[in-house]
Amino acid sequence: MIPMQKISCVSIPAFQDNYFWLLSDGHAAAVVDPGDAAPVEAYLQAHGLQLSAILLTHHHRDHVGGVADLLRTRNIPVYGPAGEAIEHLTEALAGGTQIELAAPAISFTVMDVPGHTRGHIAYFLAADGAQAPRVFCGDTMFASGCGRLFEGTPAQMLASLDALSALPGATRVHCAHEYTLSNIRFARAAEPHNEALKVWEVEAQRLRAAAIPTVPTTLAHELQVNPFLRSGVAQVQADLAQSLGLPAAELAGDRLKTFTAMRAWKDRF
Ligand code: ZN
Ligand code: FE
Repeated sequence: MIPMQKISCVSIPAFQDNYFWLLSDGHAAAVVDPGDAAPVEAYLQAHGLQLSAILLTHHHRDHVGGVADLLRTRNIPVYGPAGEAIEHLTEALAGGTQIELAAPAISFTVMDVPGHTRGHIAYFLAADGAQAPRVFCGDTMFASGCGRLFEGTPAQMLASLDALSALPGATRVHCAHEYTLSNIRFARAAEPHNEALKVWEVEAQRLRAAAIPTVPTTLAHELQVNPFLRSGVAQVQADLAQSLGLPAAELAGDRLKTFTAMRAWKDRF
């Protein structure tokens, strides 16, 4: 029997605040959302890894900009959303599809998570023995925040966040940006009474002061401190109405209205 291979997952920092995620078995590697080839090539070289697959969540340049250069010296599959026009895609994916990589040996379930862009997808990696479940969600959910609605509606984004929220609580949330501290500033304004958020603010500040990534967090953690996952909480609805100078009845009991108002406030925060 072949022993189960240990898969490692690291973040490669790039640009101002992007993370490219790299999964590897110690020999072969897959990279998620390589917006730039150079830091990926440097990592592969430093660790003696062969790149075997590229996974893309959506079409924005900071997520796909390195693909052409990475393909210059290798012929490997490029997975990405069927619903978006992306150059060099070889495997167009729709929600519900299972994909199996041979090396590193990983299987993903594709999720449709529109909102930030029209065709945005996420990759869910189920728990496997000692491995925690992981989701690579691009610019849909961030630590204590969510992506801007460039192409989708609030209802689409809320449904996408609901789908992500239904994953196991232990799921590591591998978002694509280090936006955590600014997201927390907004979250604290949106939820001034959230005690878990106060604790997380201190912890996140400590991590960033030490130049340590705040991500991945876990889904169970996000459900406690991410106001965009909490639009159904009565206290959140009441606090938001008060912050925006609306009558409490305006948002009470209405998740979509609450989410929509919260996202619009964040856009101008
Ligand atoms: Zn984006
Ligand atoms: Fe991005």
